[in-house]
Amino acid sequence: MDVRTGNGFDVHRFGPGDHVMLCGVAIPHDRGLQGHSDADVGLHTITDAIYGALAMGDIGQHFPPSDPQWKGAESHIFLTHAAGLVRERGFTLTHIDCTLICEHPKVGPHARAMRHKLQELLDISLDRISVKATTSERLGFTGRGEGIACLATATLVKP
Ligand code: MG
Repeated sequence: MDVRTGNGFDVHRFGPGDHVMLCGVAIPHDRGLQGHSDADVGLHTITDAIYGALAMGDIGQHFPPSDPQWKGAESHIFLTHAAGLVRERGFTLTHIDCTLICEHPKVGPHARAMRHKLQELLDISLDRISVKATTSERLGFTGRGEGIACLATATLVKP
């Protein structure tokens, strides 16, 4: 059996807005996240973890921020591209673990909706998708409320 893991890390800064996109779910907030696409830091991180497990570069190589066609793009496009490569290479995505780091908005109340969204996008069972959150104890840029950071691990298996 060929088992591979990949990690992802991403950060987006806060800017003007009334909601943030996190793992495909719109969460009302007094600010938005800035980015070339919809700035969904959760989906970007998971996408990068999958590319990492495949050793196939990163999201910026597959979807260059300099390319105007990705301006405002919904980030599920990136995730489903990575998931397609997994199938193409004969692997199965068996697990995702994602940790969002911020003081606000509170992620906990939305974690279940995020897991369901990921289940829908990745077509894997809910017990293979983990979304959790932590603060950085008010330290650093996440602690000062300047942005949201995210870490993720993806596991792929080929029988
Ligand atoms: Mg990003």
